[in-house]
Amino acid sequence: MPDEGPLLSRGRERARQLHDTISDRLEAVDRRRRLASTTRTRFLMPPTVASSTFQIISQLAGLPAVHRAFQWFHLQEMQLREWHRQVASIPAPPFGEAARARWVAEQFATLGLENVGIDECGNALGWMRGAANAQTGQEPGASRPCTLFSAHLDTVFPAEAIGHPMQEGSILRIPGASDNCAGITALLGIAAAMRAAGLRPERDILFACNVGEEGEGNLRGMRHIFSKSQFAARIHSAVILDGAGTDMIVTQGLGSKRFRITISGPGGHSWTDAGVPNPILVLANVLTAVGRIQLPGSPRTTWNVGHIEGGTSINSIPQRVEARIDTRSTDTVPLLQLEEHIHDAVVIAVENANRAAGDVPSGNHGSDPIQFEIATIGERPAAALREDARILSTLRAVDRHLQIRSHVSTASTDANIPLSLGIEAVSLGSGGSGGGVHTLEEWFDAAGRDLALRRILLLLLALAQPEV
Ligand SMILES: [Zn+2]
Repeated sequence: MPDEGPLLSRGRERARQLHDTISDRLEAVDRRRRLASTTRTRFLMPPTVASSTFQIISQLAGLPAVHRAFQWFHLQEMQLREWHRQVASIPAPPFGEAARARWVAEQFATLGLENVGIDECGNALGWMRGAANAQTGQEPGASRPCTLFSAHLDTVFPAEAIGHPMQEGSILRIPGASDNCAGITALLGIAAAMRAAGLRPERDILFACNVGEEGEGNLRGMRHIFSKSQFAARIHSAVILDGAGTDMIVTQGLGSKRFRITISGPGGHSWTDAGVPNPILVLANVLTAVGRIQLPGSPRTTWNVGHIEGGTSINSIPQRVEARIDTRSTDTVPLLQLEEHIHDAVVIAVENANRAAGDVPSGNHGSDPIQFEIATIGERPAAALREDARILSTLRAVDRHLQIRSHVSTASTDANIPLSLGIEAVSLGSGGSGGGVHTLEEWFDAAGRDLALRRILLLLLALAQPEV
């Protein structure tokens, strides 16, 4: 329409492009799901699997070397506490994990892991060579499928907030004690116990303490391992330790996407320029429209506007305003649909404002007065583990053997990345109990930690076996 002016058509054009991108992605999700449902049957386990997996776990648990490792967990709790205090004393704010990664790499090397190093992204890595590779003399991580065993390095705290650890009996008090120094300590404990017990997994295990799990880290460490690292294609399953606890299994990755919406205009004096469109009002219309969107309760989908800023003074028409929006869902499709609705709300509110403004000078030659930008500032894919996944049936058998009453839950963790790629993954607690997570009063109680370590060890050993 010729009377709309160049910006409006650009706005329309942009809206069309956004729609096309989102429809392409919705189609891709649909294609992936159809593919998954056709390939699923190939991996369906025979009906006897529950008992046979249980038998495998019982056999593993009965091995003398496994007994020795279990004993190590019990007898070496003081060593675990020492590591726990040391790692927790090294600050690891988002994008500042290097010192902690170096410390972890040193421990990996001392514990006999091979090819220890820190990758380009800042993740500390080390290999435990599987029995099959030990025979052929092949480099660890060279060709056979492997299991990723990981814990994130980063905390939500700035470096100066860490302070000194306080140990009161089995309780350790320091920010990051549970999330995720408990995970890092458990990773070291497993490596140490296996070494002490002379226990070798059947296939290689890649130990990783990765960067970027919290907040704006946006899972970059895990993304790197699964996309850019040379072994990305070889990881057949991932066991991720995050926080305290023994009975939780995170099998569903909560997806999220965060946006920054910026609305800008020519601005002016509240009296002499009255009538110039006001970006704050446009944003208010956007947020009101988004607030009216009917969101599904299942799959649970939510949005929040958590931060707005902009404007100049009470007697100025603002030139700029921005809002930060967080969207979440347990499923990719409603998340994409919500994104589309938010884009629509912005485009419509901006178009309406520009139409109403008529001949108001824009201050920007040839364009409409109100402009917008929508930037993605964070994205975590939603994904869930299949009910018939090998990792889940194995873990259930382990829990039955150890008499742990576990339950599954949904959270946003490093597991989102492998799960979104169709790779089996669980996020588990590292034992003991904890509280005050993401506060300066965070604590971890190591009482009962060895039960979780036994659980994790049996799971790793079972996953490292060739598939039944
Ligand atoms: Zn965490």
